[in-house]
Amino acid sequence: MQASEGQTYDYIVVGAGSAGAVVANRLSADPRNKVLLLEAGPADHFWTRIPIGYAKLLNNPAANWLYSAEPEPATGGRRLPVPRGRVLGGSSAINGQAFVRGQAQDFDTWAQLGNRGWSYRDVLPFFKRMESYEADGDDEFRGRGGPLRVTNPPPRDPLFQALIKAAGEVGIRHNPDYNGAAQDGIAMSQATIASGRRMSTAQCYLAPIRKRPNLRIDTGALAEALMFDGKRCVGVRYSVGGMPREARAAREVVVSGGSINSPQLLELSGIGQPERLRALGIEVRHALPGVGENLRDHYAPRTRWAIGRKGITYNDRGRGLGLVGQALRYAFTGKGMLGMVAAPMRAFVFSRPGLEAPDLLLGWVPMLTEPGPKGPKISRQSGMTCYAHPMRPESKGHIHITAADPRKPPAIHFNFLSAPVDAELTVRAIRIARSIMTAPAMAPLELKEIFPGTERNTDDEILDWVRRAAETTYHPVGTCKMGSDPMAVVDAELKVHGIAGLRVADASIMPTLTSGNTNAPSIMIGEKAADMVLRDARA
Ligand SMILES: Cc1cc2nc3c(=O)[nH]c(=O)nc-3n(C[C@H](O)[C@H](O)[C@H](O)COP(=O)(O)OP(=O)(O)OC[C@H]3O[C@@H](n4cnc5c(N)ncnc54)[C@H](O)[C@@H]3O)c2cc1C
Repeated sequence: MQASEGQTYDYIVVGAGSAGAVVANRLSADPRNKVLLLEAGPADHFWTRIPIGYAKLLNNPAANWLYSAEPEPATGGRRLPVPRGRVLGGSSAINGQAFVRGQAQDFDTWAQLGNRGWSYRDVLPFFKRMESYEADGDDEFRGRGGPLRVTNPPPRDPLFQALIKAAGEVGIRHNPDYNGAAQDGIAMSQATIASGRRMSTAQCYLAPIRKRPNLRIDTGALAEALMFDGKRCVGVRYSVGGMPREARAAREVVVSGGSINSPQLLELSGIGQPERLRALGIEVRHALPGVGENLRDHYAPRTRWAIGRKGITYNDRGRGLGLVGQALRYAFTGKGMLGMVAAPMRAFVFSRPGLEAPDLLLGWVPMLTEPGPKGPKISRQSGMTCYAHPMRPESKGHIHITAADPRKPPAIHFNFLSAPVDAELTVRAIRIARSIMTAPAMAPLELKEIFPGTERNTDDEILDWVRRAAETTYHPVGTCKMGSDPMAVVDAELKVHGIAGLRVADASIMPTLTSGNTNAPSIMIGEKAADMVLRDARA
């Protein structure tokens, strides 16, 4: 499709991330729909293709917005990094590639909050439609013919076998398909990695359809404001290389900028808290006090363990000559350290007996890393990391613009641990991680706890360390919450309350955080949003 300047499309999608790429694909499948997809970042980056590229992109401005959060008591005054993908594929192109849907109860909760059509039964067909699951699994729950290739490596490594055994010794079962009938248990991480390549939404949803004549993808295109005719959204004002442009939407604009940028774009366009917008000189188009509120994320301490037994972690096998070996292994098989999901083993566990579903997540990385100027470096010390945190935190923060300038990053306040239950469950998660790491099956590995350290035992001592050491697992959600209460931003059809022709479809619409990582549910949201848009067009 030729130049977008001043053109009219049927649909404009802002942001080509986990959700936006899916929306653009499904809407343009009908050749009668003219679709414009705007992406602020570039079309590609070398490291988005190789799974370990995750580590190379964490601090890389070429494909990452590199936000950081405001200092707060729960972080001991630290500014936590908030990486977000800024490239075709969005955060699915820079993430850790773990594939976790969440629990049936997560979506049933959304439905119980009044969101019709979002119960687990309602969303399961979209989870199935998105994936080609390349491992054993019950077809009642798993999809085989979707664009996204999902794999599940067997636990061959002695380290992972020991962990499964140790978890069994403390009462945690081995459950290879945590995206199937039930989530609880320990398992190898399912991954959006196949044939040694990262399966981003750019790779799976956009690359195969780049030649559709009715789809235009503009990269390096920063959406700066929405255009309105009264209370109807009619287009997008954006810039490419600093040059202003606009495009009009005859039917709808779908904002899929992610949990940081979607509320930012709404506020820049005059949708949000009136006093806040007026103070920045922004004309109020529509008052919606929930824009930017209800921010939730996982605040995850990483416990660290030294391993005495030689040769079983990537600290021994992935440095110096070992790294050459890993590179060759990857070149010939697509496997090994370079083809690895960020945390290859995880466990969904109960904090106490009697719960209907697990509420804590533990994840293991088979090496120790330390921060370097260009991202994490592999440590000399041999060991492993185990992060441990509650899955459905109740602490809520907010994100708001601080200027009427689309290039100025918004202020991010997480308010971590402000709900006492989050602090209590974080301590519990660390204690369970300790119980697995010290179970008899782990004895041959000669483990020694480095952090929090055996000297920290009381809840207060552990929490004091959490405040100084924890980071997020990069799952911000909820800032354009779906619902019908006064703080909701979109309704159950993802339409912005009070504005016609405008939907939000990405992780920001989640009313609560799903139990696990957020890429799979964001892709599901993209699938379901496209389905609703197309249904409206047929009506
Ligand atoms: C480092 C990291 C590791 C992660 N690890 C995992 C993991 O292992 N497993 C997992 O399930 N989840 C993981 N996540 C989380 C998961 O990837 C995200 O929750 C998910 O990708 C969010 O999808 P989204 O569609 O909401 O936003 P995104 O995928 O972030 O997409 C938003 C897109 O919109 C573009 N955009 C934003 N503003 C504008 C604008 N104004 N104009 C034009 N374009 C714009 C962005 O550049 C981006 O491409 C991780 C995330 C990160 C950052």
